[in-house]
This record gives sequence, structure tokens and C-alpha cells, in this order.
Amino acid sequence: MGLMIRSSSIHAAGCYTTSRIAKGVQVVEYTGPRITKQEADARFRNSPTTYLFGIGDGSTVIDGHGTAMYINHSCDPNCETEELDGRVWVMSLRAIAPGEELTYDYNLYDGDEDDARCHCGARNCRQTMYSSEEIARQKKALKQKARRAVEAKRRKAAAVTQAKKGGKAASRSNARKKATRR
Ligand SMILES: [Zn+2]
Repeated sequence: MGLMIRSSSIHAAGCYTTSRIAKGVQVVEYTGPRITKQEADARFRNSPTTYLFGIGDGSTVIDGHGTAMYINHSCDPNCETEELDGRVWVMSLRAIAPGEELTYDYNLYDGDEDDARCHCGARNCRQTMYSSEEIARQKKALKQKARRAVEAKRRKAAAVTQAKKGGKAASRSNARKKATRR
């Protein structure tokens, strides 16, 4: 199979096929040394570009080296990745014509607040390379954060009101006391 790396309209460099690829074949393996997630986090904390691919339960990542690491993300991809016995294969989702750029959906899931905006240009582009599950998780986390902030504010406000009320109540009861005394 003829694959070549050249500049891409999606992002930086991309991987293109020079020959026709049939549907459902193993196009290329995502190769690279296996490192732990902790190692990857430490090693690439300040790297703007990483080629990490989480495998298994995500505790191990492949630090991409080789052709497959150049394959760009698309929300309407012509490939997908499949893990077989600890190896990751890029498989064709449909027949791919010579000259086409290979893409798969990155479905990013571990990005903190990294910018993962998508520029794939697909009609169904979801504007981010995060997976739908990850977007949902991030939204939930944001909502929880917002809710916690509102709760904290409410508690603070309640404490202030309580203090004020306490003061007023005290003066009112004082007044009442005075009134009864009179
Ligand atoms: Zn997209």
C-alpha cells in the first residue's frame, strides 16, 4: 500500500494514499513505543503537539512514531482505528481513492483544557476532536463546577443574611423587650 506524507488542508502534515484502498482493510499500524499515561503526562506537559494513542483501559499510551501518527482527525473519516491484541490498526471504513487523505475520528478523551478545535471541514463537523462522551463529561464537569460556585455563593450570601438577620432579630427582640417593659 502506498502511503505518503504531505501538507494537509486539515492540519499541518497529513497521510495520503497513492493507491486505491478497499473497504475494511488494515491500512497501517499505529506504531511507537508504549509508555504509561503518567509518563506521557510528564513528558509532554508542555508540548503543543503530541501523537499519543491510548490503548486498553487508557493507562498505556503509544507514543506515535511512524506513518500513522500523521493521519489527521476528521468528523467524517474514511478510516477508524481498531485495537487487536494490544496493537492499533487504522482500518478503512470505505473504499478510498488514490490521492485521498486518510482520516479517522480521534475521539479525544483526556485533554484537560487543551484546545482541540476541529477544522476538518466536514458537513457534520462537531467543532472539536473530543469524543461525544468526553464532551458530555466535560459539560457535566463544567455544570458541576458552576453549581458548586453558585452553592458556595449562596452559602456565603446566606451566612451574610443570617448575620444581618441575627442583628435585626436581636434589635427587634430588644425593641420588643423594651416594648414589653413599657
Ligand atoms: Zn470536524
